[in-house]
Amino acid sequence: MGQGVLTTGFARVQGELYCEDVPLERIARHVGTPAYVYSASTIRDRYERMDQMLAPVPHRIHYTLKANSSAGILELVRGLGAGADVVSGGELHRARRAGFAPQDIIFGGVGKTRNELAEALDAGILLINAESEAEIRDIDSLARERGIVAPVSIRVNPEITLDSPHEYIKTGGRGHKFGIPHDEALNVALAAAELPNVELVGIDMHIGSQLTRIDPYREGAERLASTIAALRDHGVSSLRYLDLGGGLGVRYDSEQPPDLARFAELVLPVVQATGLELIMEPGRFLVGNAAVLLASVLYRKRSGGKNYVVADAGMTELLRPSHYGAFHRIQSVQQQPQHAIVDVVGPVCESGDFLALDRELEDVQPGDLLAVCDVGAYGYAMASNYNSRLRPAEVLVDGDQFAVITAREQYDDLMRLEIAEPEWTRGL
Ligand SMILES: *Cc1c(COP(=O)(O)O)cnc(C)c1O
Repeated sequence: MGQGVLTTGFARVQGELYCEDVPLERIARHVGTPAYVYSASTIRDRYERMDQMLAPVPHRIHYTLKANSSAGILELVRGLGAGADVVSGGELHRARRAGFAPQDIIFGGVGKTRNELAEALDAGILLINAESEAEIRDIDSLARERGIVAPVSIRVNPEITLDSPHEYIKTGGRGHKFGIPHDEALNVALAAAELPNVELVGIDMHIGSQLTRIDPYREGAERLASTIAALRDHGVSSLRYLDLGGGLGVRYDSEQPPDLARFAELVLPVVQATGLELIMEPGRFLVGNAAVLLASVLYRKRSGGKNYVVADAGMTELLRPSHYGAFHRIQSVQQQPQHAIVDVVGPVCESGDFLALDRELEDVQPGDLLAVCDVGAYGYAMASNYNSRLRPAEVLVDGDQFAVITAREQYDDLMRLEIAEPEWTRGL
């Protein structure tokens, strides 16, 4: 299976941008802007590609909620057969609400609280990906209190140098806070295997995000395989899963998306040789290309020789440009002949509030609609209420139909948790 043509779900029909069979303009009229618009068929396409690519080995695909945890998206992904990968008690709650069976949920993250670990154990999830020896001891004692044996997998930091586009999304290099350093992993795993209320069921890594090359997966898988072999030499026979994490990249601009055929060719033989079931934790790969952020142009203005497009969406709706310096293509929903070089900025009172800088864009005017592309992952999930802005609506398109899956926030939502008449407690 080669790279193939990746379905985008978004295309122009007679100059007008559509999501599947629905004109984006129609959605904007119905729902208003800003709004996230998702293509269901794109998510299905990515899931099926990954599932097919992994077909030569027994495998489980656990969708990583932090990329996008909206119930409508979770429902879709679960319906395709995915499990869930969560990193907080809140995500565990969301996954269960969305109908994921506990045995289809895995729980990772560097700083789980005892409460969160207890919730995971009480739910009876498939496994906890533990990131330190202290955490494994906490799990053991919580499991003992409950009279159970906790399934634990150990996240190893394979200490690989990566080509990820931003420091903030590298997680498997030497000195990162994540996982247990490769050279300590064997001892920690052996200690875990000795604990009476822990069963060591897996070895795990997650080396970074937006990875476009495959060799780091191969290198990491080999390191994990050597730890697995050493554990078996020491008589550990409880291992069932080899978890290679997420991180597969998507195309935002001109980058080559990862070659799945190459992944199958380079990485699966290493997995096969271990005899373990493969777990993958994709986030961005499944949903990244599956959405646009629809925004309206509010104003055009010039300042200091710069040409600005002021939109009704900015860093509060899509943080990636200002947080990671990320590039997102922007298109006018109605095709236009004239182009201009502009900064596309939002209404937030911060100079870092932008969606694009020095970008050649259609010469849009107030009232025109913009589509900020490839925002399905780490888009809505990172939206905030800064400046008391309302988080946008989310809309799912499937063929010629669309539905609001998350309502636009209302003003009263902003103050829902604030206590008008606080109850004072004496501090002494
Ligand atoms: C964020 C994360 C993922 C998903 O990463 P993507 O780059 O979105 O695929 C998977 N596993 C863990 C542990 C993560 O923290």
